[in-house]
Amino acid sequence: MVLKDGFGRPLLNLRVAITRRCNLRCQYCHMEGEEKLSDNAETEMTVDEMVHIVRIAVGLGISRVKLTGGEPLMRKDVVEIVKGIAAIPGLVDLSMTTNGVLLTSLAEELYANGLKRLNISLPTLDERVYNKLTGGRLGDVLEGVKAAVEAGFYPVKLNMLILKGVNDYTVNEMIEFARETGTILQLIELEPINISDAYYHASHKPLDEYEDMLKQKAVKVETRQYMQSRRIYHLPDVKVEVVHPIENTEFCMYCTRLRVTSDGKLKPCLMRNGNLVDILTPMRNGANDEKLAELFKLANHRRKPYNKS
Ligand code: SAM
Repeated sequence: MVLKDGFGRPLLNLRVAITRRCNLRCQYCHMEGEEKLSDNAETEMTVDEMVHIVRIAVGLGISRVKLTGGEPLMRKDVVEIVKGIAAIPGLVDLSMTTNGVLLTSLAEELYANGLKRLNISLPTLDERVYNKLTGGRLGDVLEGVKAAVEAGFYPVKLNMLILKGVNDYTVNEMIEFARETGTILQLIELEPINISDAYYHASHKPLDEYEDMLKQKAVKVETRQYMQSRRIYHLPDVKVEVVHPIENTEFCMYCTRLRVTSDGKLKPCLMRNGNLVDILTPMRNGANDEKLAELFKLANHRRKPYNKS
């Protein structure tokens, strides 16, 4: 059984924010669309609560789960979270998006416990620019990328958020880095969420020019239908994927995703916060699995394309 929303879109993916705490302060961070709340470990879901929520989701046909944050590796029990979720029968794919700063010492253990794919945020290969954008040290992330590839993660995707005048002229350099490290480069368009209008207007750059360049270089172009119709450009020895959500009706038409916020609310759309469904409070109050599944169905019913034609 797979749930469909009122627009015929199947519900296949769950994106779970396992914490809102982060060890970086990225200028551009959309915080997964969560409203600004204080960093507070006390309100986070426990391992058992997360596993329970994902088990309900898998029972409703969701088969792909991505862990995010905040920074997921900030959770001391991240290996337990991975282990518990990976063991859920029916789950096909478990991945994580991380800033990579703490990855070097954790990569092997995460892989051994069932995490098989990683997205690592890497907006630039310039140490000073990286530090200015994120507050972190580029060297830590580069070591993390190496550790992830060596541990066997496949694919490792490098999430490069494109920022006008900051890193937009370094895409070819990043493609080369992806080729050398055996990773996939993912170009991401800046979204106007949890950032100021002024920052968005100064930094947003449409990705069309990269798509044009990639089309010319590609030996094959693939469309990930159930991943918001994203394009993957196969260049010789390296793949580049483009995430282009702004004013893209196809992106929303092919959205198959539901989110869980770090404080346990089902979130039907990255861009909206008026339609959340609290699942953690009823769970803590003893709601049975049937009731929890109803909450998923309600959240699914509230899924609506943000960009419509
Ligand atoms: N800390 C983790 C990380 O860095 O991957 C997980 C959270 S981060 C919010 C998840 C992804 O969102 C990152 O790949 C980042 O590049 C992307 N992202 C952050 N702010 C964004 C924005 N304003 N528009 C589009 N993508 C954004």
